[in-house]
Amino acid sequence: SIVVTGATGELGRLVVDALLADPSVPAGSVVAVVRDKEKAAGLAERGVELRIADYSRPETLAGAFGAGDRVLLISGSEVGRRVPQHAAVIDAAKAAGVAQLAYTGVLGGPDADFDLAAEHKETEALILASGLPYTFLRNGWYSENYTANLAPVLAHGAVVSNAGDGRVASASRADYAAAAAAVLTGPAGEHLGRAYELSGDEAWSLAEYAAEVAARSGREVVHTNVPAAAHREILAGAGVPEFFAAILVDVDEAIARGSLAVRTGDLARLIGRPTTPVGTTIGEALAAAE
Ligand code: NDP
Repeated sequence: SIVVTGATGELGRLVVDALLADPSVPAGSVVAVVRDKEKAAGLAERGVELRIADYSRPETLAGAFGAGDRVLLISGSEVGRRVPQHAAVIDAAKAAGVAQLAYTGVLGGPDADFDLAAEHKETEALILASGLPYTFLRNGWYSENYTANLAPVLAHGAVVSNAGDGRVASASRADYAAAAAAVLTGPAGEHLGRAYELSGDEAWSLAEYAAEVAARSGREVVHTNVPAAAHREILAGAGVPEFFAAILVDVDEAIARGSLAVRTGDLARLIGRPTTPVGTTIGEALAAAE
């Protein structure tokens, strides 16, 4: 089977879509590992087998995987708890004897120089230590990280950051999902022992992003660069929890250093087409907001 964890999340749903759309994937071979059965009702209706498990409860993971499965571990969303959670998934995959464990880490892998990368680095190290056949999908930024925030940007006419002139080689979630589906299908072994540095074909600055939003919305939008401390206060004022505001400000500092501008072409090569330009994702978000 091809097993996708986090299948009810935004990326996971798109991976399942890509697998179901692939004629080379046998019907009935796609399995979704989810913690909330109700949230997965739509997946079950489409013929996807559900296995219920929670990364935080190792005992529930015992039945999640089978011998020979090709598994995608989608990193969890509970920042700060993810190392033990991922460790439990890796242990279960090892005990089951899976044929492949693909993991969605972060661009730069062991060299990523920002706080949010720490749990991904530890997870990759655990996978290497497990001896499991692995594929590392080191994801750069989703364009949707920015376009999900269009309403306040349009309301204030400003994209606020402390990223300076730093550039972001973002791609759409669907692009990263297509890459994940690609490494889980095709000849067994083709992607084993490999680390892919996945990012968009083009890197943009926040000023360019603001200009693109302005052009497509017909509104005035600029990039306002502020010092890190001021950005942290603005985020806190907008209701972002303090620890997460600190993480976002730290990410912007990494962007300023160029850490998320890395372009290797791995993503376009895996999906066999150019990555989706950020302007396209902005256009989709504006259309959805209408
Ligand atoms: P989502 O938050 O939509 O999805 C996270 C998925 O992980 C959900 O399906 C969620 O389950 C599942 N999950 C979280 N905790 C547990 C748990 N304890 N047990 C079982 N499942 C769990 O994020 P995305 O799909 O957008 O992104 C996928 C991952 O990529 C994120 O979790 C994060 O690690 C990382 N990420 C990457 C970004 C990037 O730009 N590259 C940006 C943001 C995140 P449920 O559906 O039940 O909530």
